[in-house]
Amino acid sequence: MNLDEMRVEIDRAARDLEADLIRHRHHLHRHPELSNREQNTAAYLANELRRYGADEVRTGIAGHGVIGVFHGRLSGDRTTALRADMDGLPVRETSGEDFASVEEAEGPDGTVVPVAHACGHDCHMATVLTAAKVLAQFREHLPGTFLCVFQPAEEGPPLGETGGAQAMIDAGGFDGIEPTMVFGMHVSPLPNGTVGYRAGSQFAAATRFEIVITGQQTHVALPWLGRDPLPAAAGIILGAGQLSRRIPAGHPAAVSVGHLEDRGRFNIIGDRVRLEGSIRCADDADMALLKQGLRELATAQAQGYGCTAEVAFDQQVPAVVNEPRWLDAAMATLRRTLDTDRLLPAPPTLGYDDVSALLQRFGGLYLLYGVQDTMNQQGAPVPLGRGRGMIPNHHPAFYANDDALLDSLRLHTHMVVDHLHGLIDP
Ligand SMILES: [Zn+2]
Repeated sequence: MNLDEMRVEIDRAARDLEADLIRHRHHLHRHPELSNREQNTAAYLANELRRYGADEVRTGIAGHGVIGVFHGRLSGDRTTALRADMDGLPVRETSGEDFASVEEAEGPDGTVVPVAHACGHDCHMATVLTAAKVLAQFREHLPGTFLCVFQPAEEGPPLGETGGAQAMIDAGGFDGIEPTMVFGMHVSPLPNGTVGYRAGSQFAAATRFEIVITGQQTHVALPWLGRDPLPAAAGIILGAGQLSRRIPAGHPAAVSVGHLEDRGRFNIIGDRVRLEGSIRCADDADMALLKQGLRELATAQAQGYGCTAEVAFDQQVPAVVNEPRWLDAAMATLRRTLDTDRLLPAPPTLGYDDVSALLQRFGGLYLLYGVQDTMNQQGAPVPLGRGRGMIPNHHPAFYANDDALLDSLRLHTHMVVDHLHGLIDP
């Protein structure tokens, strides 16, 4: 069987397994788990990988990470890793799907929260899992190795815990099976069945911050006897929106406070305010400037009101950067697998994805994949006027069309085959 014949056969096998793909997706969608709590998801994936004849299934990597290892029967020194993230979000799903989430779980603060795959990670897992089943049938013809990498805690581990892609590397999850290419796609509101690609920064660098402003408690009627931290907090919130002006205007960035907690009440000025938020920037190099700016702003605002501020940063994730040489190398595979009019240049976004740790370490490519009833208007998706329209990731009603997933599956399998055969080699 030559390569062209194998591609035809792989497409046929993928079509034959489309029902499996959808079944996996619906099961995983119905039973989402929070970051670093993906135990049932991991067990399901590991079990299926064993059934598909994986040579090795590594489990419990950095929490609930799973890697299925499949060796081709021909000799080769390349290893393609397909990467899917595993976690859901604390969101009450309103998609109306008959396979909508039925799960609740204990959130970080001990309260029970609804859980949903509101970011489509169910689609990623089902696709990579089914790709294993398709490709396992073609091992006689594959030189080298392919990995199915299921990564926990992409949405960020709970505070005080580690987890995610970097943690999988640190835990030795890839020891002895280091990929020579990582490939993945994230579902998005792009038009159904289209691929969004970008050379350079596709997803932003991200850092979570926490600012604690300490004042002195007093009666609201006697403010001169204490130090009110709230005006300082207000100044920081307003000033944060100005920090992007410290970097060049053409560089996308956002500094936002998303949570405020104080200890006062209507007749008490509290002694402490805690702010939580995020810095996002498209260019890794801008992160240090924005962090420094936030520190200076918080310190100065607190001082201005006789208070003090402590600023801490954590959950730092580098930008997802597609090196142009990788995109160039994979373009022929993209064009061969999908019609050219389904390949759309994508603008950068300020979302993040910690697949960046894998791309930085091993090289590879991360693309967007459209799963919604939208059309492309000047580079951005807009509702199609029929169907379910455009609903962004993380929204409670986020949806992904089942009928888009087959071509995503095909693309994953073709990336593996072409890299192992040396056709994607930057
Ligand atoms: Zn996501």
